[in-house]
Amino acid sequence: MGDTIFGKIIRRDIPADIVYEDDNVLAFRDLNPQAPVHVLFIPKRAIATLDAATDADAELLGKLMLAAAAYARSEGLAEQGYRVVMNCNEHGGQTVFHVHLHLLAGRRMQWPPG
Ligand code: 5GP
Repeated sequence: MGDTIFGKIIRRDIPADIVYEDDNVLAFRDLNPQAPVHVLFIPKRAIATLDAATDADAELLGKLMLAAAAYARSEGLAEQGYRVVMNCNEHGGQTVFHVHLHLLAGRRMQWPPG
């Protein structure tokens, strides 16, 4: 596991508002929310960036997406809709180099994103 701030959250070295966990995925509220609901879904096995992912990571990345969708459904967010975002590297706006999916909901999203 890469030693990012998210690794520390997985190991419970630092606190987080965890909203979902299974064997492969952990989800917690973003410290700096960009929408009324802003939850980060991360794989417990660290992958630094989407660019670093390989075929061996396909199932894990699929589980990440499906966990976010199931959470949105269980929280009643699916009908109005939501956005999932994965930032990759500098121009993508990635700041934590442990792959994560942002789930944003609770307001109408704009397009294109900034
Ligand atoms: P990125 O910019 O890499 O796509 O997203 C990283 C996200 O992690 C940001 O939205 C940021 O607010 C969030 N974040 C950074 N450090 C922490 C932390 O210690 N705890 C939580 N809950 N979120 C964090």
